Amino acid sequence: MTSEHVKCLIIGSGPAGYTAAIYAARANMNPVLYQGGQPGGQLTITTEVDNFPGYPEGVQGPQMMQDLESQARRFGSDIRYGLVTQVEFSENPGRDKPHRAIVDDNHEITADSIIISTGASAKWLGLPSEMRLNGLGVSACAVCDGFFFRNQEVAIVGAGDTAAEEASYLANLCKKVYMIVRRDEMRASRFMQQRVKTAPNIEILYNTETQEILGDEGVTGARVKNTVTGEETVLAVTGFFVAIGHKPNTDIFKAYVDLDDHGYIITEKGSTRTNIPGVFACGDAQDNVYRQAITAAGTGCMAALDAERYLVTLEMQDQEVVH
Ligand code: NDP
Repeated sequence: MTSEHVKCLIIGSGPAGYTAAIYAARANMNPVLYQGGQPGGQLTITTEVDNFPGYPEGVQGPQMMQDLESQARRFGSDIRYGLVTQVEFSENPGRDKPHRAIVDDNHEITADSIIISTGASAKWLGLPSEMRLNGLGVSACAVCDGFFFRNQEVAIVGAGDTAAEEASYLANLCKKVYMIVRRDEMRASRFMQQRVKTAPNIEILYNTETQEILGDEGVTGARVKNTVTGEETVLAVTGFFVAIGHKPNTDIFKAYVDLDDHGYIITEKGSTRTNIPGVFACGDAQDNVYRQAITAAGTGCMAALDAERYLVTLEMQDQEVVH
């Protein structure tokens, strides 16, 4: 196994990771960033991004991630293909006990500071038609893609707070929203349930499962089944949203870093510090609420600044040892 030591290791390559890399590189932290299994993250599977400030005409998600990557490279960030498969965080880190990460099971990196920006992955129903039409009318983000379906009929699957919130968002844009709920009740908070139940253009279909999303080049409908009566219906929708939860990509850190009940990394209020000194978390891996590219980028900036301050304290400790 090969081995190296770095000042700042960034794990993950969405807007959070690349922004952290831009700031860390400009602060002479010589960041090394590993892109993970999906370089560019969730935005590489969306189409147009219209809500990221600075792109007045909108931008394709993959293009925006290439722009962020180029900007990070321009300042000298070392951006590499590779998946961090294992970590070992030091409880009492210092120069003699750095944090450790293994890349692709064959390369060891020790690091003075680590920024986690591994994001979260949307959960999907697992239907072949859902995968085939992903980005062609099937989406896991109403705030990102709802605009493309204004004045049209859409469906959204899920019954939690996210689904209720996104259904309300879509109801403001679309002619009609079908909310597909698999049980006879919703999980969302009472307030959010009230909101969707009273919206004139949201129709809630309880005890309903999606059998297939229809269409070739784009969505033309969804075949759903009432699990009580067995009746099948085709909903004439052109957009199909899935809001059945997200899974933060934090499994490899859970032995060290404090996570909440849903697996999101807990950071100190107002900072990106985790419970481990020298380990910082940003983006969707620690954000269960906003989950936007711009908020991820904002926390990426915070993580680099927090890591920079941390590295200064390490240097001061070194100087005390020398004197
Ligand atoms: P949740 O896990 O709370 O809800 C997921 C929903 O998806 C459930 O209703 C579940 O159904 C349904 N579901 C899961 N799998 C399937 C499937 N295969 N087919 C159909 N339906 C399925 O996720 P959320 O993203 O909604 O929320 C995550 C957390 O974030 C929660 O704690 C929530 O309260 C919080 N949140 C808070 C917000 C706020 O305060 N404004 C906004 C958004 C989220 P079932 O109920 O049958 O299990």
